[in-house]
Amino acid sequence: MRVLVVNAGSSSLKSQLLETDGKISLMKCLAEKVGTSDAYMNVSFAPDFKKTKYQMPGLSVSECLAKLLDILVEDPESPISALDQIDAVGNRIVAGGEYFTKSAVIDDEAREKLTLCEELAPLHNPPADACIDMMREHMPNTPQVAVFDTAFHSTMPPKAYLYPLPREYYEKYRIRRYGAHGTSHRYAAQQAANLLGRPLRDLGIITCHLGNGGSITAVNHGKSIDTTMGFTPLEGLMMGTRSGSIDPAIVTYLMRREHKTFDEMDRILNKESGILGVSGLSADMRDVLQAADDGDEWAELAIEMYVHRVQKAIGGYYAIMTRTDAVVMTAGIGENSAELRERIFAGLAHMGMILDKDRNNVTGEIGLNRVISIDDSPIKICIVTADEEIRIARETDNLVSQLG
Ligand code: AMP
Repeated sequence: MRVLVVNAGSSSLKSQLLETDGKISLMKCLAEKVGTSDAYMNVSFAPDFKKTKYQMPGLSVSECLAKLLDILVEDPESPISALDQIDAVGNRIVAGGEYFTKSAVIDDEAREKLTLCEELAPLHNPPADACIDMMREHMPNTPQVAVFDTAFHSTMPPKAYLYPLPREYYEKYRIRRYGAHGTSHRYAAQQAANLLGRPLRDLGIITCHLGNGGSITAVNHGKSIDTTMGFTPLEGLMMGTRSGSIDPAIVTYLMRREHKTFDEMDRILNKESGILGVSGLSADMRDVLQAADDGDEWAELAIEMYVHRVQKAIGGYYAIMTRTDAVVMTAGIGENSAELRERIFAGLAHMGMILDKDRNNVTGEIGLNRVISIDDSPIKICIVTADEEIRIARETDNLVSQLG
């Protein structure tokens, strides 16, 4: 099945055209700085994926997607010449709230529920919904599926998902923990079970999605029982530009002391904090590692704080699982940074997570899922390559195939 995967962000658009039978990518697209005068979109086609850059000043995310549909039909390099050659569309949706506990075909009823989820991820869900509407107009006969970041975490028990706030706020507004990166955590846990050669339902696995955003999940017998992200993807670990968990009293303190508005606080916590905020240099872990190497003390401290918080989350989840068989590292930092992995697991060997330094440092096998703990490590440490687009395409294929 030929699936167009659409991953709409607040100011970005990632898309791929994928052939699910052979897991083959036919087209890749990345639009960044969307909504600004500097917005651009790179589009490339198989087999050589040579990028063509298009300027997109002032266009919205869904307008960029409309432009991509035009390119797909008109570009002589494109594998399709008409939109009806796309069999299905798979949309990544950040928040599904309590309305969606699994992926769903987008019919009128599902579309209405999607609108109700918008306030749970006000930066991400509305542009994704606008993309869905635009494609429903352009390709009315092509089935669309919504794949939710939150769905995998719908198995969390109330003791994990409720906040210790007055109950009325849950009852009135459904304020609770929903988690995120669910597609990635589910995939990472399954791949780790494959590496261990045992059924996922028999295992306890801690999955660490460490990218620009980051979250850690306790996957007990195949089910998410707790995860570090919460009501929004701001909770939990320290991230590229997000603070992660802080004392909430800091927010009201800063608003009073510096007369910050709600929007300013939102920007500080989401865009100006985390690795960027502490290092004062960059949100990109590669830059910060380099600066620390060159002797920058704040860069070093940012890395130490990052590692400390990851270690605390892994240790915390070890405590609530019925068993722990493996810890999985995935996404940009988890997959690629041998140094970060070494620092994280240096503090966890006493819990039975013993890294093999040589295996950790192997670079030749990048991209391959593998075990990087010593043979006798009671808890295995694995690396799994995140491939969110393929997961979304597969999930879309499954649901659309069931439609007949
Ligand atoms: P993602 O959001 O999964 O694309 O991950 C992006 C993050 O991964 C950025 O902070 C990058 O700096 C980081 N990253 C990618 N490659 C490396 C690497 N080789 N070493 C350290 N960090 C990396």
